[in-house]
Amino acid sequence: MAAAPGPAVLPSLHKWASTAPAHLRMSGFAAPSRPLYWHKTGRMTPARGTMAGRLRKIIGALALAYCALAGAAGAQDFRALARLDMARSGIADAGGAVEITLGISQPIPFRAFLLDAPPRLVVDFSELDFGAAPVAALGTSRAVTALAWGPASPGWTRLIAELSAPMAVVEAWESTGVSPQIHLRLEPVSAAEFVATAGAPVATRWQLPEPAAVAAPRRRQTGEAPLVVVLDPGHGGVDPGAEAGGLAEAPLVLGFARELKEVLTRAGMHAVLTREEDVFVPLEARMSAARAAGADVFLSLHADALAEGEAAGATVYLLAAEASDSASARLAERHDRGDLLAGVDLAGHDDEVAQVLMEMARAETQPRADGLAVALQAAILGSGLKMHKKPVQAAAFSVLKSPDIPSLLLELGFMSSEADRGRLVDPVWRAAMADAILAALQAWAVVDAAEARYLRQ
Ligand SMILES: [Zn+2]
Repeated sequence: MAAAPGPAVLPSLHKWASTAPAHLRMSGFAAPSRPLYWHKTGRMTPARGTMAGRLRKIIGALALAYCALAGAAGAQDFRALARLDMARSGIADAGGAVEITLGISQPIPFRAFLLDAPPRLVVDFSELDFGAAPVAALGTSRAVTALAWGPASPGWTRLIAELSAPMAVVEAWESTGVSPQIHLRLEPVSAAEFVATAGAPVATRWQLPEPAAVAAPRRRQTGEAPLVVVLDPGHGGVDPGAEAGGLAEAPLVLGFARELKEVLTRAGMHAVLTREEDVFVPLEARMSAARAAGADVFLSLHADALAEGEAAGATVYLLAAEASDSASARLAERHDRGDLLAGVDLAGHDDEVAQVLMEMARAETQPRADGLAVALQAAILGSGLKMHKKPVQAAAFSVLKSPDIPSLLLELGFMSSEADRGRLVDPVWRAAMADAILAALQAWAVVDAAEARYLRQ
């Protein structure tokens, strides 16, 4: 009796990876545009709360971790040194479906996509050491006719599985804990459906920057070039933000951001806005814009609403895993929900994997953000402007999660406070606030640059 043919080892990874346009090959690593978790694939869009829905969130988290780390990994020395554990890995048919399980020594960012001619699954890992065992040791499957794995580009490794027929990835998730593993499940689909979903990731869907911008090594500012300040007017488009007293947060903070940009530009800084008009920008795209601009500082501008009496006065928010109080937690939640309005589900991005990896990069960045928060508090209070009774707070604002860019969120005031609303529309107050922010940035940049030069020695 004939055994099922085992998977042949492909002669060259590059041969099978090369049908993507040149700029999408392994060198650049665009963020995924047709990620498997994307709603429109249809196969990954179960009702919220189902198991698959949860999985989709996990994948979303991984994609985020991937996006955020792609830049940082190049610049900093925290490459994952995850190893494949062959004993916990394998390929197995499950009816018409096929399941691929990869036991790994530690969680790592990964992404999976399909390519055509021949149909094949491609999985990229942030440096997974496949070890000495041959790829054929993963096992055999009717659905997988050939397998290859190996290094793809510095810091990245790739697994390619050639498929006997068109399939779709219906599960792609990573578990954390003591025995982390990556799990993929593919099910047969029609040729038409395969063609519709296959394709190398392209950075179009979320208007993410070109790969080169993502991969460019980042260096701390040393005061030799103009300070690059990315201003992020919150909300916009379908998400107006807080509304009260005939005012909406989105246009208000956009107007202030434009004024602040002028003030910073006149002072010789390079200011960039994450949105120039009343459009919806996903949180992730805001962070990507900051990375693409080579931001030295990221400052998100808001004027949210909270229950009456809870908040008045400008408040500086730093990123924290835990909100400093329940009002902060509600604010963070509200901001993240903005993305749901436009159908971008980032709800899973507090995933443990993302956390673990980003904390490593943040170890250097967070004290720098702390320093800027102190400078902002001093400058705003020093200008005689009203601040909240707790002027610096912490909240789990997703938009502050760039691991390598000092990021702060400034609530200029609260739309729920009548006094704040009066200040927010007062040109004199706005000019004073813009000047205070400029003063804070200037003071901080000097100290920060001195530290960077000291660390370089
Ligand atoms: Zn807001």
